[in-house]
Amino acid sequence: MIKDNLQSVSKRIADACLRSKRDAQKIVLVCVTKGQTITKIQEVVDLGLKYFAENKVQEALLKYQKFPQSIWQMVGHLQTNKVKAAVEIFDLIHSVDSLELAKEINKQAAKINKIQNVLLEVKTSWEATKFGFNVQDLIKALLEIKALSNLCVQGLMTIAPAVSRAEDSRFYFKQLRLLRDEINPAWLLSMGMSDDFEVAIEEGADMIRLGRVIFDD
Ligand SMILES: *Cc1c(COP(=O)(O)O)cnc(C)c1O
Repeated sequence: MIKDNLQSVSKRIADACLRSKRDAQKIVLVCVTKGQTITKIQEVVDLGLKYFAENKVQEALLKYQKFPQSIWQMVGHLQTNKVKAAVEIFDLIHSVDSLELAKEINKQAAKINKIQNVLLEVKTSWEATKFGFNVQDLIKALLEIKALSNLCVQGLMTIAPAVSRAEDSRFYFKQLRLLRDEINPAWLLSMGMSDDFEVAIEEGADMIRLGRVIFDD
């Protein structure tokens, strides 16, 4: 049951915060709804969650129309031809993975007079995803990205590789935190999914993105 899942997730977040002396109230739980039905999402909305995310614009458009009061975010790779639709609905785009994409988001956001909140996706491993900046490219692109006046860069995001023990993800989360500390200590970190969110919190995650652990029976 979703209700029980959420209760158990809250407890696990609280425990991870205790271990790392962090404030559980400040951890943002983003519910990833990809592949989930409207009925199931309704349950989560009714249980009080505010933040939802999709990895495809098309799916997000439908769900945004059903739940316009919820805050919708993008966590998947964004193609340039979908940016116009994306800036219309997303409060935050976690997955800015190239300078070209940053420029296109800036351009489309400017057209509708919006300052688009974004995170820059960093590739902390080779296996996890083909998308994301490698660290050198990010450092190089940073000045240009910061100059884009319709973007508000709020932090960094990463996807850790699938590992058999959550503990093995710690290294990747730590990499992201150290990079953040170097670039801008005020930036937020979006890291941690169903299999590794507790370790992510211990390493400084501000936002965790959870799907299966909320929806699975
Ligand atoms: C699907 C997805 C999630 C959630 O993954 P779970 O393992 O179901 O918790 C988080 N982040 C991204 C980018 C995703 O695509």
